[in-house]
Amino acid sequence: VTSLSRFSTVRQHAEQHDGKPAGPELSEEEVARALRNKEFVAYFQPKMCLADGALKGVEALIRWQHPEHGLLAPGCFIDLIERSQYISEMTLQMLDMSLQHCRIWHDAGYPLSFSINVSARSLADSRLADAIVERVAASDIAPRYVILEITESAIMTDLSTTLGTLARLRLKGFGLSVDDYGTGFSCMLQLSRVPCSELKVDRAFVNGASQSAHLRILLESALDIARKLNLRVVAEGVETRADWLLLRELGCGEAQGYFIAKPMPGDAMLAWWRSNRERFLAPSTLDS
Ligand code: C2E
Ligand code: MG
Ligand code: MG
Ligand code: MG
Repeated sequence: VTSLSRFSTVRQHAEQHDGKPAGPELSEEEVARALRNKEFVAYFQPKMCLADGALKGVEALIRWQHPEHGLLAPGCFIDLIERSQYISEMTLQMLDMSLQHCRIWHDAGYPLSFSINVSARSLADSRLADAIVERVAASDIAPRYVILEITESAIMTDLSTTLGTLARLRLKGFGLSVDDYGTGFSCMLQLSRVPCSELKVDRAFVNGASQSAHLRILLESALDIARKLNLRVVAEGVETRADWLLLRELGCGEAQGYFIAKPMPGDAMLAWWRSNRERFLAPSTLDS
């Protein structure tokens, strides 16, 4: 609890701005400066195995340590960057920071994987994929520890341009995850063409599923599709013990959400895990 309360200012900021562009006015010039001055920081959120309470991996989530506005959540600035020429450079900085932390975790005896969010538009240019492959090859982290998350709606919009790149990354051994699954109006046929390894069920179907017969039906069919396509499945936005237990009962593979932990700085991850692992070993006794 004490280690998590350190991040409470971050969380409040994140929630305040979550999805709403109510934050400060930011410009592309500031993005360029932030890249030069290394103002972007990778936070990491654990992904837990529901069956045995093991820590499987983490998702890297960008934060901006802004010199005037403090720590900003991506809701304030990610659209600006994704529309700019800086998206590839930002993605590569996130990759580098993640590789550095991953190295430390592996050396400490925790062979965690990590996911980074990649905008589908930036993959339309094959140079980003080439750079990702190169940097991972130059690190001593094997590509199977690296998962690229791409939102479902983005994949489906640009499928014809990105399919070749995605297939190439999968062949190199990278994991490929369909993020926000269930919100992108894709059908099983389209989805089956994407060479992905994982579906990440959007929190809209997860959060509160234990309290809603309707959500539960949608969640069950998402899990069913994942099973039929032989994909790993991660439920995002798990906030309560009841939802955690339901997901476990339904055979969902992994879970991520505030019930487990909020995103945290990379150097806090192992301490968090060491003081929280007991909680997940006997899930029926988990406190909410
Ligand atoms: P996402 O990839 O779907 O990430 C999950 C978001 O849900 C994160 O918000 C996370 O903090 C939040 N979250 C996690 N657990 C819970 C929960 O239990 N309840 C609720 N209500 N929320 C939860 P965050 O960090 O603000 O990121 C928002 C979005 O910004 C991400 O959604 C992703 O689309 C984008 N993003 C974040 N980092 C990057 C990045 O490095 N590159 C790109 N291109 N996009 C990024
Ligand atoms: Mg994601
Ligand atoms: Mg997501
Ligand atoms: Mg989502």
